[in-house]
Amino acid sequence: MPFAVRESRIHGRGVFATRSIAKGERLIEYKGERITWQEAERRYPIDPVPYHTFLFEIGDGTMCIDAVRNANAAKWINHSCRPNCEAVEDENERIFIDAARAIRRGEELTYDYNFILEERHTPAQKKLFPCWCGARNCRGTMLGKKR
Ligand SMILES: [Zn+2]
Repeated sequence: MPFAVRESRIHGRGVFATRSIAKGERLIEYKGERITWQEAERRYPIDPVPYHTFLFEIGDGTMCIDAVRNANAAKWINHSCRPNCEAVEDENERIFIDAARAIRRGEELTYDYNFILEERHTPAQKKLFPCWCGARNCRGTMLGKKR
C-alpha cells in the first residue's frame, strides 16, 4: 500500500503517502461494520461531544459504515477543506478513497468529510465538528453545505 499511518498535524493520527500517487488511483476501501443510523445513534449518542467521526453514511442515508469495528487504515484519513482525495461510493454501497489529484510522497491524505446533519447547521453545531485542516479556504467545520 502506498501509505502509512502516523501522527498528524491536523488531528490525532493521519495517513501519509509513502510514494507519489497518481490522480485517480484507488487507495483503500473504507471498511467497517455496516449498521443502520438508528444503531449508530444508539452506540454513539451526539451528547456528549466530541461526536464520533468514524461513521460513514452510505446508500440513501439510512445506513452507515462504523469504522470502529472491522476497520482498516481508512478510518485514520483526516478531513480537509482542501483535500487531495475523494470518497467514492460504488453500486454496492462500498466506499473507496481515490486520489483526487497527484499526491507527493510524504503528503497527508485527506478528503472532505462533508457531514450533513438532519438539523440546521447552526454555529453551535459547527463547533461540535471543528476543522483544523489549516487550508486557506478552511470553513472551520467538517460540516458540509446543506442542499
Ligand atoms: Zn478546514
